[in-house]
Amino acid sequence: MDNIVENYKKYLQSINESMAYMCNTCGERLEHEEYDEDPNRMCSNCGDSDWVSENEYEMDESLIKNFDQFLNEAYVSKEKTKQVREDLKKLFPQYRFSVRREHYSSLYVAILSGPIQLLTDENNSYEDVNEYYIDNHYQDRPEVRDFLKEVLKVINIGNWDRSDIMTDYFDVGFYIHLSIGKWDKPYIVKNN
Ligand SMILES: [Zn+2]
Repeated sequence: MDNIVENYKKYLQSINESMAYMCNTCGERLEHEEYDEDPNRMCSNCGDSDWVSENEYEMDESLIKNFDQFLNEAYVSKEKTKQVREDLKKLFPQYRFSVRREHYSSLYVAILSGPIQLLTDENNSYEDVNEYYIDNHYQDRPEVRDFLKEVLKVINIGNWDRSDIMTDYFDVGFYIHLSIGKWDKPYIVKNN
């Protein structure tokens, strides 16, 4: 069944590519008119100028959504992705975030920079945050713990989680991957 779903999605994608662009660093969107005007323009969110074709398939988004929900698969919409990006920017103006959707089912959120050191080990350039173990992992640093929990709360608006991690059972509205920095973009301490 999984194969059928994947093939169907690929088919939908292949017949309806659009030419929007996305910041490769932080996920900010750029209309193709703006890109054509100046392909080297700086991203208004993170300052990089590394644009990739977004390959979005707007017309068939609802088909994929219905298909995913019918099969009870995780799904996150383009609108939700945009909402999270805007909410985080508004609520935590001292921080910079990268918010990207992958495979219609997951949100990848990375905290790129902020006024305090969030990394557990300053010798690392980034770290993944396990949302189930935040209390445990960051218990000695309540400031970091509380901030990460606030960020997750914002991301999780409209999500559900009926997972049972003791038995490795996962049932979520959509999946979340939260990290401090990214493997190719070290976390930076600075006031934005
Ligand atoms: Zn950017």
